[in-house]
Amino acid sequence: MRALNSVTLETGQLDLTSDQETAQLPCVPVLLPVALDQTYDYQVPPDFEVAPGMFVKVPFGPQVRTGVVWDTQVGGSDKPVDPKKLKAIQDCLDVPPLSVLSLRFAEWIARYSLSDLGMVLRMMMSAPAAFEAQKPKFGVRLVVGAPLPSRMTDARQRALDVASDGEVRSKARLAEDAACSTAVINGLVKVGVLVECALPAPVFGQPRFDHAEVEFEGDQLAAVHAMVSAVDGDTFSTSLVDGVTGSGKTEVYFEAVARTIERGRQAVILLPEIALTSQFIGRFEARFGVKPVEWHSALSAPERGRIWRAVATGEARIVVGARSALFLPYCDLGLIVVDEEHDTSFKQDDRVHYQARDMAVVRGSLGGIPVILASATPSIESHVNARHGRYRHVVLSSRYSGATMPDVGAIDLRQEGPETGKWLSPRLVNEIETTLGEKQQALLFLNRRGYAPLTLCRTCGHRVECPQCTAWLVEHRFRHRLHCHHCGFTLPIPKKCPKCASEDSLVACGPGVERVAEEVSERFPEARIVLLSSDLVPGLKELRSLINRIEAGEADIIIGTQIVAKGHHFPNLALVGIVDGDLGLALGADPRAGERTFQLLHQVTGRAGRAAAKGRGFVQTYMPEHPVMQAIISGDREAFLEKEISIRERGGLPPFGRLVALIVSARDKHQAEQFARDVARAAPAADRLAVLGPAEAPIAVVRGRHRWRLLVKAPKDLDVQAYCRQWLERAPQAKGDLRLTIDVDPYSFL
Ligand code: ADP
Ligand code: ZN
Ligand code: ZN
Repeated sequence: MRALNSVTLETGQLDLTSDQETAQLPCVPVLLPVALDQTYDYQVPPDFEVAPGMFVKVPFGPQVRTGVVWDTQVGGSDKPVDPKKLKAIQDCLDVPPLSVLSLRFAEWIARYSLSDLGMVLRMMMSAPAAFEAQKPKFGVRLVVGAPLPSRMTDARQRALDVASDGEVRSKARLAEDAACSTAVINGLVKVGVLVECALPAPVFGQPRFDHAEVEFEGDQLAAVHAMVSAVDGDTFSTSLVDGVTGSGKTEVYFEAVARTIERGRQAVILLPEIALTSQFIGRFEARFGVKPVEWHSALSAPERGRIWRAVATGEARIVVGARSALFLPYCDLGLIVVDEEHDTSFKQDDRVHYQARDMAVVRGSLGGIPVILASATPSIESHVNARHGRYRHVVLSSRYSGATMPDVGAIDLRQEGPETGKWLSPRLVNEIETTLGEKQQALLFLNRRGYAPLTLCRTCGHRVECPQCTAWLVEHRFRHRLHCHHCGFTLPIPKKCPKCASEDSLVACGPGVERVAEEVSERFPEARIVLLSSDLVPGLKELRSLINRIEAGEADIIIGTQIVAKGHHFPNLALVGIVDGDLGLALGADPRAGERTFQLLHQVTGRAGRAAAKGRGFVQTYMPEHPVMQAIISGDREAFLEKEISIRERGGLPPFGRLVALIVSARDKHQAEQFARDVARAAPAADRLAVLGPAEAPIAVVRGRHRWRLLVKAPKDLDVQAYCRQWLERAPQAKGDLRLTIDVDPYSFL
């Protein structure tokens, strides 16, 4: 965490002899993208003109690093440093500066999440290529009037045919278009038929606000009106677009995006990465005439750099991306949309812990611009904000063009469970049969990757565990390996029990999606089955192509983990079966377990009957009377919300109270425990605030590190960050192998 005290680096260490005749140069604070919570002052050489937000190269310790000129001093000691002793800025980069708004946003996030400001900056600079000198790229074009090569081949002819339009193409591109190798292209360059020249910089297609006219109906009209007026209002507002799946939320917020670019400003749409399907891109293209600028983990380093710059210059008008797209250097952001706002993938639990949905609202308020949150199952937090009038509540209550919501029923596994060793109850199997008979698609959902969550020895009862984590190894039969889902440890499926060495005594217990797929292919050998699980789909591209095939009707039965729940629109899907409805409810300590299970099951069952066909959903459960199951079956969301909100309110849980988790870890068990207790002892006394723990974490060991947790529970009106800051100042420092992680508004309690 705050490593401030352990930093030995002094900016004053410059070997200027004091009698040197340096006129006093102006100096400016510079923030570096490192784990430090302060700016350092640097001299500005006479021939440089710097302004806040500019990227500069400065000496820092033994290195030269890129940092940002800040407009105020942050952190550090109050002792003024002799300006003569300061080091000087070495270079100003030819990179568009960060806006002052970005500086304020970074400070806000750092203060709120109790992270180092430098680490927030690092997040904002996560495109190293953007800060490198822009090298022109070279390609080839046809030399006008050049004589044909003496030796002609089919491949050469194809390449020349493609190049005959005179355009400049990269060698790789020309080779691909002409279906030949780059050696052929190089040969043509050598004989002088093609010549190398600079490639024109690629440009981003400009979206058109009026590319398509959409006719809206019913509730949609009022929603569009509200969204467009929010954009026209030119002030901060948050709207919660709360509409059942298929009600047209996307179409509605596209209108606000259109209005924003019509007014000349930029817009960003944040989505869980796996909802960034080609379907979504296709709809975007249909509405705006071009593909959106995408920001996600699958981009190459040069692409990241190019997009980062285009966002900074304003060339990129609409960005669609995962949570980190919020931290791009927009020069004139006019609208933020967070789609699937309830999705937990907006929470980052690495380095800077933040919730992108909440930070989007902060960014909106700092920038004085509207924010739109959209979901079919809004988070409790957003519901409460809507009820208290902080968010405008925009409701879309029915599916577009009359498609109806699916009927959902429970299958009580206590009464009509499957035979042993099987996971689909007779009723669900029947339903699948009927669906296939009607030439429609069925989806089976189980939120568990792999074949079986547990491997057990029949002889001695041994459970195969991860050597580095408190977790069972999960069998992945396709890969013939056991995997740890916490640390990535893997091992070939053993023949003998690792403990008692009996041969062939290991048995797989419980189902994962692979096992359900096995059962389905035994029962329906004729059916075309698609298995969707993040570990089986190598990347976003492959995922998109699988989704396209499903959409095109090239699958009869789809079996998947939560990646099937997000945003997809499968027109021919009529049946959804939830293999284990109770799965998410077992996470006892998590105050959001009920909410999350409801959202997931509702989203999954909502995939059925999106087009004209009436959809049906079935949830296999051992507790059909559980409020979550009742809400899913009856479709009475309001009753569920009512109950859930009152539980949170009574318990002082979010959003009625604030939580901050402190997680201590070390390789040594005793050291971890001892440190956790020392940290706990340093907690300042406070009246209305409780510090719970330390307690061993539910997953006590991850990657060989022993973990202990503390939880701060505070009323909403209390400045819990100020409390934690005070605490951390008094607490012992995490030295050596010890780590102390702070997670403000935690979503994980494991
Ligand atoms: P949601 O985001 O609420 O799940 P979508 O925006 O995906 O809903 O809409 C569901 C389907 O209905 C999509 O295929 C969409 O193109 C279509 N649709 C919704 N509203 C309209 C409209 N006003 N005109 C034409 N098609 C619409
Ligand atoms: Zn054994
Ligand atoms: Zn592990």
